[in-house]
Amino acid sequence: MIKTKINRHDIEYFLYAMVKAFYKDAVVEAPDTAEHNRLEDDVREDQDLVTCNLTSQGMTVSFNKGKCFLEDKEYSYEFSEKEDDSEYKDIVRGYIYDALADYSGNVLPWGNLTGIRPTKLYMNLFRALDSGSGTENEYTKDQIDQVVNKMALKHRVSDYKGQLAADIAIREKKIIDSFDNKDGYSLYIGIPFCPSTCLYCSFTSYPIVSYKDKVRSYLDAIYEELKAAKEIMVGKHLDTIYIGGGTPSSLSSQDMDYLLSKVQEVFGNENIAEYTVEAGRADSITEDKLKVLKKYGVSRISVNPQTMNDDTLKRIGRHHDTKAVIDAFNMAREVGFDNINMDIILGLPGEDLAYVDRTLEAIKELKPDSLTVHSLAIKRASRLKEMMDKYNSEIGVIDFDKAMNMSIEAADSMGLKPYYLYRQKDMGGNLENTGFASDGKYGIYNILMMEEVQSIYAIGAGTVTKRVYDDGHIERCDTHKDVNLYIADIEAMIERKRGLIAKKERNRSYE
Ligand code: SF4
Repeated sequence: MIKTKINRHDIEYFLYAMVKAFYKDAVVEAPDTAEHNRLEDDVREDQDLVTCNLTSQGMTVSFNKGKCFLEDKEYSYEFSEKEDDSEYKDIVRGYIYDALADYSGNVLPWGNLTGIRPTKLYMNLFRALDSGSGTENEYTKDQIDQVVNKMALKHRVSDYKGQLAADIAIREKKIIDSFDNKDGYSLYIGIPFCPSTCLYCSFTSYPIVSYKDKVRSYLDAIYEELKAAKEIMVGKHLDTIYIGGGTPSSLSSQDMDYLLSKVQEVFGNENIAEYTVEAGRADSITEDKLKVLKKYGVSRISVNPQTMNDDTLKRIGRHHDTKAVIDAFNMAREVGFDNINMDIILGLPGEDLAYVDRTLEAIKELKPDSLTVHSLAIKRASRLKEMMDKYNSEIGVIDFDKAMNMSIEAADSMGLKPYYLYRQKDMGGNLENTGFASDGKYGIYNILMMEEVQSIYAIGAGTVTKRVYDDGHIERCDTHKDVNLYIADIEAMIERKRGLIAKKERNRSYE
């Protein structure tokens, strides 16, 4: 057990997250509110004092006007009265990281960044370089190094992760700038059904066999939302459509046809840049369904194996083997799909580097147009979390850093470049999820959604609509996760979304 103490609310979560990142197996406990208030009261007279105390480790870091102490070690740092609170916080965060790195003898690849979108910070630095240069999206090596060094200094990001993030930020920025994000939006449709529930799943997902009788009513509710979305987003341009889940291809080919015909009926005249359907699991993909997707102009699909090892597929609860993945992929090519993504997960129970190598070699044979590499995140809502006692000895045995580097090399050998990246809480190796794609096959929805540059109108149970204001502020509106509630309450949910979209730009009253 490690107890953390800090006398500033605004740095408390940061301290907790950093201690968790350095000591991943430890139970970390933050002070309760009363204790916290006492700590804050102690220093009300002197707001510059920050004390960070990891009691059970016997380590204390304190900061006071220009000096940082870690036990008997003393670091000096520049702190001028002119610095504002956010600069001061950055300095303190930097030293908390240094103290923990010193104390644990470890470093973190992403330094002290705790957010899920590190590339956003790099993109902002590149945008700052753009002003007045007239050479937007073209950067010299010196400029790239300048951005990487800035993030290394401020956030202690390692050079190799900094280079990766800068590379992705430049690639994403070009794509983002080619859209009119102020007046454009994307549509997400969630199909919360799957053939079975995967061991690590924390998404809204229900076994399709138990919901067979509900599917048409669910799709009819989606249809109501589609019509409302078209009306609510009037004057805006639909840029991308993404049908995800769940596993959309767990719908029968007739139901898939029904859904896509409704999308076409409502949005058929929009000239959209990308139409993605997560075909997802090989045990749900058939030639008929692929033909339906093709018929309605779907331009990008996913065939997601997660691993190309049969014993792991069985362990994670997938009712198919690697041969079924290969057959589904080849069938999709034969039907005419020229933009196929594959997802894999590093760190699945029982998998070491030899497993990852087998997965990557099998994927190299197939040559997908994009590859998304996830590091296993053990989510609170997953069966895996509940069963940690059983699987603990098999999880985290992998060297995540090596596995990620093997994936980067495999992607590179297929001509795929990194184009989007995000981090999650509780990720293996404190790493990231990275999407790689060949030129012209980048997942546009992924970029627009992850960088939060345009509104996402989300339809379906358990989905979240995001309104992105012109100043970058974001407000969200979620929907019921329960399928029955979603169907029953559809009108109310449509009205809530109408209310969100009808809000005027910020600092102005509601319409
Ligand atoms: S396919 Fe995806 S959504 Fe469905 S159970 Fe597996 S992880 Fe969950």
